[in-house]
Amino acid sequence: MSAMNRLNGKTALVTGGARGIGRAICEAFVAAGAKVAVADLLADEARETAAALGENAMALAMDVTDLATISEGVSAVEKAWGQIDILVNNAGIFTMASIEEITPEVYRRQYDINVGGTLFAIQAVVPGMKQRGSGAIINFSSQAGRRGEPNIALYCSSKAAIISITQSLALELAGDGIRVNAIAPGVIDTPMWDVVDKLFARYENKPVGQKKREVGEEVPLGYMGSPEEIAEPCVFLASDAARYITAQTLNVDGGNWMS
Ligand code: NAP
Repeated sequence: MSAMNRLNGKTALVTGGARGIGRAICEAFVAAGAKVAVADLLADEARETAAALGENAMALAMDVTDLATISEGVSAVEKAWGQIDILVNNAGIFTMASIEEITPEVYRRQYDINVGGTLFAIQAVVPGMKQRGSGAIINFSSQAGRRGEPNIALYCSSKAAIISITQSLALELAGDGIRVNAIAPGVIDTPMWDVVDKLFARYENKPVGQKKREVGEEVPLGYMGSPEEIAEPCVFLASDAARYITAQTLNVDGGNWMS
């Protein structure tokens, strides 16, 4: 099979697919021959992304903290296309808060989206995957899941949890032919970085834009990654070329982290 057709005949659901890394994954999946459901809290943007991708894409209004919308979305895809072969748990948010600032509400939102959203989306697709005896799940961790940072205990720990969940579920589901892997991006130029840069400006007392410049310069390969540079490894992990890979978290970060 040529590289262009690596996902021929496969169907995928990508959470947080409307913009940033998720959108690039949807584009790369369709280019590789898959049908893609673009699931996002941003329903209008999800529709725009799906429309731009043409007949092989559909939009889903999905809040990964709301089990009813996850279940409705999964049912809609299974009804339209018969099955979900690939789930990408890309939806995530970044928060910064010192130990004094963390409230139960901030804690719950961070974990409900980054951790709960991943767990419950997996729970929703697993019955169909088990029935067919195959499936590929790709979770989104981060370099922040590899090492803590001041004022980022919530986000960093939520992304460390993703590495652990990926390992446990890979072992739990291996016998059903379902592979579970994760990607740990480094610094990637997406709308999320507008939020991240402004938060660092506040916490590190820097002009807006400075942190973003600095983190790009510090990458061994010399620049911030693009969403497309995350999407390509995601296509690989979703494809049969990665059939002997499970339980792994792949660093895609220009050399920032070595493991
Ligand atoms: P992004 O630009 O903020 O895109 C994330 C998308 O997920 C947004 O459309 C967002 O919508 C959506 N989303 C948020 N909460 C949701 C929910 N409850 N249900 C459904 N969708 C939801 O982020 P990104 O930079 O592409 O990041 C994608 C993933 O990679 C995240 O898991 C992130 O933590 C991870 N990551 C990113 C970087 C980076 O440098 N960019 C580095 C490491 C890891 P709203 O705008 O409404 O929130």
